[in-house]
Amino acid sequence: MPFDPSNLAAPSVRTLAPYVPGKPIEELEREYGIHDIIKLASNENPLGPGPQALAAIATAAREIGLYPDGGGFALKQALARRYGVAPEGITLGNGSNDVLVMLTEAFLTPDTEAVYSQYGFAVYPIAVQATGAKARVAPALPDPHPMAFGHDLDAMARLVNQHTRLVFIANPNNPTGTWIEAVALKAFIAAMPPSTLVVVDEAYIEYVEDQDFPDTSRWLGEFPNLVVTRTFSKAFGLAGLRVGYALSQPAVAGMLNRVRQAFNVNSVALAAACAALDDREHLQRSIVANREGMQQIKAGLDELGIRHLPSRGNFILIDCAKPAAAIYEAMLRQGVIVRPVGNYQLPNHLRLTIGTQAQNQRMLDALRQALIVLA
Ligand SMILES: *Cc1c(COP(=O)(O)O)cnc(C)c1O
Repeated sequence: MPFDPSNLAAPSVRTLAPYVPGKPIEELEREYGIHDIIKLASNENPLGPGPQALAAIATAAREIGLYPDGGGFALKQALARRYGVAPEGITLGNGSNDVLVMLTEAFLTPDTEAVYSQYGFAVYPIAVQATGAKARVAPALPDPHPMAFGHDLDAMARLVNQHTRLVFIANPNNPTGTWIEAVALKAFIAAMPPSTLVVVDEAYIEYVEDQDFPDTSRWLGEFPNLVVTRTFSKAFGLAGLRVGYALSQPAVAGMLNRVRQAFNVNSVALAAACAALDDREHLQRSIVANREGMQQIKAGLDELGIRHLPSRGNFILIDCAKPAAAIYEAMLRQGVIVRPVGNYQLPNHLRLTIGTQAQNQRMLDALRQALIVLA
């Protein structure tokens, strides 16, 4: 019999559709032989890391002959101080993707279920399916709802039963940018049975400036089944280093630590994250740049007559009103990488990351040009 690893893989893995990342700049260079490329495809911070993080990286690089602190003591202390949470309730991850996977490994089995929303972040279906658990996908809010394509909490609640171990809520959600307000989110969590953990993924929360936006880290004392995940990849500008974390009750963190790899966060990343947390100026600069870039892009899209979804992240989802693959392609040829979302069953949409002012202008110009060429 010929060797066929797909027959050997777990059935749930065999049928998995792998995560499709944003196209790397080097790949576009190789394929098209063009240079001066900008990538606004993965919601990275266009300002990159701040000066304090860069200095900490240089210092930490001298020590990489040693294993990192597997307990992440210093970073947990810094996070605990900054957000007023107990260090025992913090679980560090190799990006928050890592803690999302740890949650599925610790709490899901083939006879349990997980709930997430249609158009919810793409990591949820992959992580859930890999465990063999049953995924229950709630339909998104319909168009035209003010939060169309966003999470429908009532529809999600209806899918929860005694087998549900995890519910994933991204607030704001990627790729839609949509969000959930505090009152509705709190009522949802309060209605969940104790056999269900609610995971609120706050990857973009640092960018949100609304005063009344739910900061669920404040609710951890009230809801023992709440887990909050966050990351240093977005507003803190450390995507390449891979650091994220979960906030939860210490007992939940105890379960995650059983499946966590001993040295999952490297020493350079730990040092950089501590420094980034201290660098309030860089964070503030990043927030302001995002706010201004969002205004610039929305104004440009309005001028082009392109519909866009409301967003509280550092990205915006646009409706091209025709297959977006050709527009994506035409923009690539101009050296501008954005993100197609066909993997979310949104073939007419593109997700644009907010860049610097110059990058935003170039992206809008490339989009305008693509629409002219394809008209
Ligand atoms: C980017 C993103 C993450 C994960 O990013 P990491 O780099 O793994 O920390 C998690 N959730 C959402 C919704 C995201 O957009």
